[in-house]
Amino acid sequence: MSSRRKFLKLSALGTTFLSGLYPIEQAFAGSLGKKAVNKPVVISTWDHGMPANDAAWKVLSQKGNALDAVEAGVRVPEGDPRVRTVGYGGYPDREGKVTLDACIMDKDSNCGAVAFLQHIKHPISVARKVMEDTPHVMLVGEGALQFALSKGFQKENLLTPESEKDWKEWMKESKYKPVINIENHDTIGMLALDANGDLAGACTTSGASYKMHGRVGDSPIIGAGLFVDNEVGAATATGLGEAVIRMVGSHLVVELMRQGNSPEKACKLAVERIIAKHKDVSDLQVGFIALNKQGEYGGYCIHKGFNYAVHTNSGKKLIDGKYKL
Ligand code: ASP
Repeated sequence: MSSRRKFLKLSALGTTFLSGLYPIEQAFAGSLGKKAVNKPVVISTWDHGMPANDAAWKVLSQKGNALDAVEAGVRVPEGDPRVRTVGYGGYPDREGKVTLDACIMDKDSNCGAVAFLQHIKHPISVARKVMEDTPHVMLVGEGALQFALSKGFQKENLLTPESEKDWKEWMKESKYKPVINIENHDTIGMLALDANGDLAGACTTSGASYKMHGRVGDSPIIGAGLFVDNEVGAATATGLGEAVIRMVGSHLVVELMRQGNSPEKACKLAVERIIAKHKDVSDLQVGFIALNKQGEYGGYCIHKGFNYAVHTNSGKKLIDGKYKL
């Protein structure tokens, strides 16, 4: 056998061994009382994660499942017009249209997503319907809207007077250029571990403000904006979606946890990969949060200013994300 083939075989064995060992190790750790699983837990991006976590916690604390919890949780900022980066009241694209992206993933790797969806206040619930009632993972645009209407969702105007006013101001000075900076986006990504020890995640956004019409970011893309592997952990992203898509960011974070990294270390390594692959990150913000099967969590971002909300049995808090630059 050539040495290259031997190497490939050995590394394949090594990976199987390691990934197989990880859950067994956890089980031993649990039974020996070394590392009790911290559950339930819910974690979500930004300070609008605090009220969102409250809604998720209501489900989790009554032994509800992680999937119901994350859906209930992210519906809070989706429905709140004061949150200008998610759902109703979100900043529009440069044509003045509010277009929404969302995805959801459960413990069995089922997933559903909608992208470039207009007029529907709760895209996360449409994403869940795509997951549960269709053979597909993602519906976009007009097709997603027609599907939502067929499921009884109401068509609504999502552009609030405040967002319309800001967009008109932006039009005066912007020269119609989509904005790339570290501050014009704040998706909610939420991850939960329920009392049963199962994981789920949800991610929903109005995307980068004043983006080109038709632009879709990372948030509805399974593997980029969100990824859940119930054997290992879950991760979600916020920040400039284009950079996250290039690295398949959330999948990367979960795979780094599979290799034995803590949630925070996995997020840090993924952030470092993004920095390494971009020539100039001075205007580029990306943040990841992650949660593993033991209920350990963490987050990491490129620039100072990212925070995330956590709720466990010991209470709730808003944590400033550690940052690289
Ligand atoms: N990731 C989102 C996007 O690029 C924006 C954000 O996180 O706020 O659409």
